[in-house]
Amino acid sequence: MKPQILQNISLKHYNTFGIDCTAKNFVEVKTVDELKTILEIVEQENYPSIFILGGGSNVLFLKNFDGLVIKNSITGIQKVDENNENIILYAGAGENWHQFVLFCLKNNYGGVENLSLIPGTVGAAPMQNIGAYGVEVRNIVKRVKVIDRKTQEQLWISNSECKFGYRSSIFKHQAKDKYIIIGVEFRLTKKNHILNTSYGAIQNSLHALNLQANQTPTINQISKAVIEIRQSKLPNPKEIGNGGSFFKNPEIPSSQFEKLKNKFPTIVGYPISEEITKVPAGWLIEQCGWKGKVVGNTGAHKNQALVLVNYGNAKGEEIWNLAKEIQKSVFDKFGITIEPEINIVG
Ligand SMILES: Cc1cc2nc3c(=O)[nH]c(=O)nc-3n(C[C@H](O)[C@H](O)[C@H](O)COP(=O)(O)OP(=O)(O)OC[C@H]3O[C@@H](n4cnc5c(N)ncnc54)[C@H](O)[C@@H]3O)c2cc1C
Repeated sequence: MKPQILQNISLKHYNTFGIDCTAKNFVEVKTVDELKTILEIVEQENYPSIFILGGGSNVLFLKNFDGLVIKNSITGIQKVDENNENIILYAGAGENWHQFVLFCLKNNYGGVENLSLIPGTVGAAPMQNIGAYGVEVRNIVKRVKVIDRKTQEQLWISNSECKFGYRSSIFKHQAKDKYIIIGVEFRLTKKNHILNTSYGAIQNSLHALNLQANQTPTINQISKAVIEIRQSKLPNPKEIGNGGSFFKNPEIPSSQFEKLKNKFPTIVGYPISEEITKVPAGWLIEQCGWKGKVVGNTGAHKNQALVLVNYGNAKGEEIWNLAKEIQKSVFDKFGITIEPEINIVG
């Protein structure tokens, strides 16, 4: 069946910032065939632009969208292959990410537990190379199935071709307007799970579960710990509109970090290599006095300065203006440019 293209649809409930803007044209696709039909229409009709929407949890709309929003709701999880140690699963791009995580945990498939409760869809996960608590999705992505927007050809992009980096991939840069992700193949463990509990917060949370000192946690326990930490630290978008971390943690030359350490002895840094040090953007923003600050309808959250929030009826522009002010103050104080992690749609 041909999916219906609707006009002037409010996007308020399609983005976790809760920005009340409209899409001039909007369509939801539930199968790859429906997506192909829409792409054929796009080729014939002259939409000024198209935007692929998943869960809307990493996007800030600055104004009404003039083109066509394609909401990807292609679902389904299938087993592709397995042996004693591993399983390969294929998930449709429109699957809810956390539901996919829960499916894996229920079946004792390891690899996704640290990425529990990240909002959004499976399809956006490789686009951003989502990550949390020491794990990135690139660690478990085998390959990504895409459709070429122009030719409608379907092809596989291998893990190495995805060119994954910190919150980045080929889909965010070189191939941004070329491909739409329709599904992802994951390689997960069935036993001998590779656990990552190095984050202090995870260890504390596991202690609270009364695990003995030398007892290995299960992947379900790790997931539970991650969920507890996230729920205590991050504002729930259903209560306060937000898009998670607004900025990426900047990576700066280690020589610059050493100089900053002389001036700001409490500055925190994690060496990425001998030359590069990663600095938590939240710390930098907090030092500039933004934590908990309310500016009109927006602000930096009281528990996590990195999370910019919509306290009610903020326009996308208002949040973006606040972000630019924060960017400037961090640069003025530290000489560091912080870049948005959020996809800005203007
Ligand atoms: C409270 C909160 C906490 C968060 N915590 C984390 C975290 O811990 N770690 C982390 O990495 N992220 C985090 N995020 C950010 C967000 O959850 C992820 O970036 C997520 O992958 C976005 O998925 P989505 O489906 O909502 O994408 P959307 O916001 O809908 O889209 C994001 C971008 O991906 C593109 N896109 C979406 N689907 C496709 C597709 N099928 N094909 C091609 N392009 C596509 C869109 O065009 C857009 O540019 C958090 C967000 C919130 C609100």
